[in-house]
Amino acid sequence: MAGEPQADCLFCKIVAGEVPATIVRETATTVAFRDINPQAPTHVLIIPKVHHPDAAALAAAEPQVVADILCEARKVAAEDGVEDTGYRVVFNTGSGAGQTVFHAHLHVLGGRGLQWPPG
Ligand code: C5P
Repeated sequence: MAGEPQADCLFCKIVAGEVPATIVRETATTVAFRDINPQAPTHVLIIPKVHHPDAAALAAAEPQVVADILCEARKVAAEDGVEDTGYRVVFNTGSGAGQTVFHAHLHVLGGRGLQWPPG
């Protein structure tokens, strides 16, 4: 059922504590952890505890959780000291956009200069 944990989903396993992650923040609806392959000094993923394959599906089913994730992004940036210098938030949506893990997640990137447009 939509939103239910998926047995084969890596990020559901992180939510359940079955796969280790460096968790930096947790709320009733979200978990934030450091990306295992950081692309910037700050590279944190914020995920919903509920399973939806991408941000579009999450927004359609549970829009308040998208707002929760974005509010958490600001807190992650503040706690990592990148709020004032600027940071980027990215939902890769679909394999053509670089999505590799099909549990919605927001990248929070900061701590270095970021180019535009992204690759
Ligand atoms: O947007 P995309 O789906 O490509 O992002 C998935 C991210 O999950 C990657 O940046 C990858 O490094 C990260 N990851 C992680 N911990 C894992 C597996 C993947 O942080 N155990």
